[in-house]
Amino acid sequence: MALVYQPKIGLEVHVQLNRLKTKLFCSCSTNYQGLPPNSNVCPVCLGLPGSLPVLNREAVRHALMVAKALNCSINTRFNFVRKNYFYPDMTKNFQISQYDKAGGIPIAMNGRMVVDVDGKTVEIRIRRIQIEEDPGRLEHPFGLGSSPYVLVDYNRAGMGLLEIVTEPDMKTSKEARAFINKLRSVLEHLDVCDTSLEGAMRADANISVNGGNRVEVKNISSYKEVEKAIDYEILRQTKILEEGGVVQRETRHWLEAKGVSVPSRAKEEEQDYRYFPEPDIPPVVLSQDFLNEVFSNMPELPDARVKRFVENYSLSKYDASVLVMEKSLADFFEETLKFYPKPKIVANWVIVEVLRQLNERKAQLKELPLRPVHLAELLKLMEDGTLSSKLAKRVLVEVCETAEPPSQIVKRLGLTRIADEQVIREIAKEVFKENPKAVEDAKKDAEAVNYLIGQVMKKTKGKADPVLTNKVVRELLSDL
Ligand code: ZN
Ligand code: MN
Repeated sequence: MALVYQPKIGLEVHVQLNRLKTKLFCSCSTNYQGLPPNSNVCPVCLGLPGSLPVLNREAVRHALMVAKALNCSINTRFNFVRKNYFYPDMTKNFQISQYDKAGGIPIAMNGRMVVDVDGKTVEIRIRRIQIEEDPGRLEHPFGLGSSPYVLVDYNRAGMGLLEIVTEPDMKTSKEARAFINKLRSVLEHLDVCDTSLEGAMRADANISVNGGNRVEVKNISSYKEVEKAIDYEILRQTKILEEGGVVQRETRHWLEAKGVSVPSRAKEEEQDYRYFPEPDIPPVVLSQDFLNEVFSNMPELPDARVKRFVENYSLSKYDASVLVMEKSLADFFEETLKFYPKPKIVANWVIVEVLRQLNERKAQLKELPLRPVHLAELLKLMEDGTLSSKLAKRVLVEVCETAEPPSQIVKRLGLTRIADEQVIREIAKEVFKENPKAVEDAKKDAEAVNYLIGQVMKKTKGKADPVLTNKVVRELLSDL
């Protein structure tokens, strides 16, 4: 008899507060990507003896906005703790973090986020959100485990992180991906994280099947890998159960390049961290004024934006959600409306054609030269009959490649649609002469009619108006 396998999945997502100007406890820049190793450091983020950390007030603001967006209760008095461990990515041998035991009080707890998965609503509870510092980055020049030496770069050390911990409320990798995607959209809308930067969002997943032991999969270095890593782990555990085995409680390491996880060696247990309150940073007390100021300046959040798109622009909830899931896409849509105020047409082109360009090029919107004003111009050229939709799609590709305005591309390529019935008739007559067999077949075979229409389109390089061509070919046939 086949067993029913019920996975339970919880996530720990580390979000880098890379929209801040400075690191969490010092005035080093957050803009470290691409810098020479160990050039973006100071005594505080290097953890040199005698240096003292000072909490970045804006980091608290960003954390509060995320906590509010995830419906958490806020601890108006919170503190920091030391998480002790020995590892070269932290020269102090501890990480300044937050904790909910041993006297620790994190900034926010008990939240929830609602996601839509296959038309069903799933609520995922948030256990807590904590502020902590990012460690440095280790580089294994010859691959993990096979390098004779390891390099360390502290440029990232001391970056502000939020660790967002969910309850194990997800049952499929799809739900986990929906959670991550929506969280991403929330972070982008709050403008607290540029999630497209390397290492901006890293997840660990806790996975158990049928109430068995929980396995932690670490090092899922991009949100895109989450689904793969979880599916792999569910499959691995299910196989063990099917063979009558017992899943070991362990920590595993996701190897992105190979698409597999491996057991990671000697991982500390919670008690090894010897958490205790950080003596260098006094407890933080949030004033009501500060809270009011932060919460009254919250940007529009994804749920509200979807609702507004449905109500103001009459979009379907599905289309609105697709746009809002990617903030840059929703922004592009609304910007295009300023030049071409027809929401349904614009939404359709953004969701189908612009997304196609992004997918085919594996690019982000900001990497393409395509601008809202280009799309607006293109749609106007279609509306006034200059371009058929087929030609418009071709022009869109050109815009993405050359950054030229659509009208210029139309001129350069001579792409104007042929809408003169007389011209199309003459071309159709030529096609009839060249294809006597198809003309004969067309009297009883619809396929042959389409073939003739196709030949006219081909002869005009797709410029003939398809509706007119259809009409003209059928008229010519009935005249025979
Ligand atoms: Zn520093
Ligand atoms: Mn952490």
